[in-house]
Amino acid sequence: MSDLKNKRIITVATTGAWPTKENNPNVPLQPAEIAEEVYSCWKAGAAIAHIHCRDDAGKAAMIYEKFEETIGLIRAHKDCDIILNITTSGGVNLKEADRVRPFYQLKPEMASYDCGTMNWAHATIFENNPAFLEKLAGMMREVNVKPEIEVFDPGMIYNAGYYIKKGILTGPFHFQFCMGVAGGIGASTKNLVFMKSVLDEVAPGSTWSAFGVGAGAMEILYATIAMGGHVRVGMEDNVLYKKGVLAESNMQFLARAVRLIEEFGCEAATPAQAREILGLR
Ligand code: ZN
Repeated sequence: MSDLKNKRIITVATTGAWPTKENNPNVPLQPAEIAEEVYSCWKAGAAIAHIHCRDDAGKAAMIYEKFEETIGLIRAHKDCDIILNITTSGGVNLKEADRVRPFYQLKPEMASYDCGTMNWAHATIFENNPAFLEKLAGMMREVNVKPEIEVFDPGMIYNAGYYIKKGILTGPFHFQFCMGVAGGIGASTKNLVFMKSVLDEVAPGSTWSAFGVGAGAMEILYATIAMGGHVRVGMEDNVLYKKGVLAESNMQFLARAVRLIEEFGCEAATPAQAREILGLR
């Protein structure tokens, strides 16, 4: 194994379920734009691409054909070895069958696993009920897709601990701390330190990454780098590059993350290094 201690994995989340062209005209929404953006982000230092797709109108959706087209276009770049991570949560009120079909059939190396239900942004219920989570873990194991365990508050880490204890989730475990979403934990350094301490209690030795949505984005980025975590950037989480300034592209976020990681004395992990760190097969 090469020396991976100073390597930090950057995940790019180019699209997500919510941002629209009205929020930021540069957010990629259709397969060709998403695939080109992912390819450019890989060149800029991203090791993992977290993929969402939209319907023809650009609205949140889990349409299998959109994922198939997007993944196909990314894989058509033969030089690009970025790790693909497909969402299982491309909106709300979705059929479970539609949520699982993209990863189950397209077999990316990773897929998101949202480890609990929450009131989402004072607007709706983001539902991940116990029966669904058990089924989802089993299906991921079946097709050798590694869960990216997304947690929006400390309770979700404990929830993951239950599935780990029961053998429903099997290691090595990788967690994504999603912070600053209304309804979940706030995006602050104090909270990040607490989230990490809960993780150390529940699943010691796990790899972890974090991001902050909105005003706390930079605080979480800096604090995560300082605490030894991996990072996620992109327009799924922030359409502003900084206060009052729209992001020009996802690559702009990548460039900043690489700069900060290097200034700290670390390096952005290549996809091959990320595979070693995450224990991907
Ligand atoms: Zn997502």
